[in-house]
Amino acid sequence: MTPRCNLHTHTTFCDGKNTAEEMVLGAIDAGCETLGFSGHSPIPFDNWWCMTEEGMGDYIREISRLREKYRGRIEILLGLEYDLFSDCDTSPFDYIIGSSHYVDFKGNKISIDDEASILEAGVNEFYGGDFYALARDYYDNMYYIPEHTKCDIIGHFDLVTKFNEGGRYFDETDERYRSRAYAALGFLLEKELVLEINTGAVSRGYRKNPYPADFILKYIAEKRGRVMLNSDSHSIETLFFGFADAVEYAKACGIRKLTVMKNGKFDEIKI
Ligand SMILES: [Zn+2]
Ligand SMILES: [Zn+2]
Repeated sequence: MTPRCNLHTHTTFCDGKNTAEEMVLGAIDAGCETLGFSGHSPIPFDNWWCMTEEGMGDYIREISRLREKYRGRIEILLGLEYDLFSDCDTSPFDYIIGSSHYVDFKGNKISIDDEASILEAGVNEFYGGDFYALARDYYDNMYYIPEHTKCDIIGHFDLVTKFNEGGRYFDETDERYRSRAYAALGFLLEKELVLEINTGAVSRGYRKNPYPADFILKYIAEKRGRVMLNSDSHSIETLFFGFADAVEYAKACGIRKLTVMKNGKFDEIKI
């Protein structure tokens, strides 16, 4: 069964292409039951892709308006994709996705989500070209996300592989990489957080498979952790991108249930 729920979406309030109402209409057309908005939290630097503090007020008001306008046709939830380097009041939100889009090296922020050339320049300048060292610092950030963001869901757990299709920068089977990923994952699963299968990098042509990699998904299955399917969509065309394939991928990794949200609460469906 393919879930008819998606809690990871972006709109023109941050770096998305469509308005929130266009996304709602697109989701209704696609037969979606629950649509959650997860605008990027304001960050105090380099923030062209985030909401501003002012914009966040407008975002909250607009999503709340849409929730009422479309009540009975679709469940709309007000969420936030809370970056580790933001500082936000989480009280207005129905749920929080905690994500790390940067690695901090002695005060220098390296974006791992922007462009390959930016990532490469950062790793060369601050890590002497050692991507394993960058990945170590990326996964070490994971230990701070739950407490800082008070999140319910961890966003794109292995985002650090975004530009690494085909092992372009490092070997994802290398113990130096996997040991850090497993350790951070174990920590998050103990906190009983929901992890996501995120098709965003596939829809935008960066990766062939959704996040996370199969060894991570298998570990989640083994530990009976919770996982949900999200598109990290920035436009109506990709609202449910690759969902059917992602369900097959999850099954092949041993996942039997997916977490969804229904009536404002987490629920599970069999796949
Ligand atoms: Zn993100
Ligand atoms: Zn996102």
